[in-house]
Amino acid sequence: MSLCLVANWKLNGSKEFNHQWALEFLRNFNGNNFSILGIAPASLYIDHLKTILTDCDIEIGSQNIDLEETGARTGEISASMIKELGCAFSIIGHSERRMLFHETNQMICQKLIQADNNSVIPILCIGESAEENQSNNTFNVLEQQIIEALENANELSALIIAYEPVWAIGSGKTPKPEEINSVHEMIKDVVQSRFPKIGLESVLYGGSVNFKNASSLFEQKNVDGALIGGASLDGREFALIANVFNELRV
Ligand code: PEP
Repeated sequence: MSLCLVANWKLNGSKEFNHQWALEFLRNFNGNNFSILGIAPASLYIDHLKTILTDCDIEIGSQNIDLEETGARTGEISASMIKELGCAFSIIGHSERRMLFHETNQMICQKLIQADNNSVIPILCIGESAEENQSNNTFNVLEQQIIEALENANELSALIIAYEPVWAIGSGKTPKPEEINSVHEMIKDVVQSRFPKIGLESVLYGGSVNFKNASSLFEQKNVDGALIGGASLDGREFALIANVFNELRV
C-alpha cells in the first residue's frame, strides 16, 4: 500500500517540537494503522525524528532534493543522502518551491529522476493558481505540468502525485470534494494514458485539509489520501485525521 497521509512541516520544528508532536500523536492515534503515514520535516531533523519514531510505523521523507547527485552546489541535499538517512519519499515541486525558488517543470523532472534512481518515492506536487482556476483553466494547467514534469522521466518505478491548488494552500479554502474527485480522475487518466510505464501509486489532495473537512474528502473515490501542511503541525490533529482516514478506508 502506498503513502496515504503525508505531513509537510515546512520551515517549522525543533528537537523539542519533535518530542511533543510524537507524544500528542501517539496519545490520539487509534493504532489501527490501515494507512501508511509519512512526515516530511526540515531535512536537519530527519535523523532525529527517525530515532524518536522508531516504534511507530511512520515513514520519514524530505521536503525537497537537489536535481544533481553531487557537485559544487552549496546548500543542497541529494536523494542518496536522504536515502542513507532512511527516507522513503521526497516531496518534489511544491508550489512554494516553484514560486520562491523558481523551480521549473524541467528542474522538477530532473529531481524526479534523482529520487527514482535512489529508490525514494517522489511526491510530485501540481496545482493551479486562483486566476487559472477562475478562468476554468485548471485541467489544462495541470495536464501541462504533468506532461512537462514527466516527459523525460517516463519510466519512474513509483510516483505519487499531490494535487494542491495554490489558492487552497494555507488559506482555509478548498475546492468542493466532487471537484477534487474529478481532477484526481483526470490526473490518473493523463498519467496512465500518456505515461504507461510510470507506476502511479496514488493521487493525494493537499490544501487546507483539517480534521473537520477530512471525511468529506476521503469519501471521494479518487482521493487516495492527503498532503497536509498547517494541520499536520499539531500531533493530535494529524492523529485524528489519520483515524478518520482509517475508519473510511478499512
Ligand atoms: C502544503 O503546503 O502542502 C499544504 C497542503 O498546506 P496546508 O495544509 O497548510 O494548506
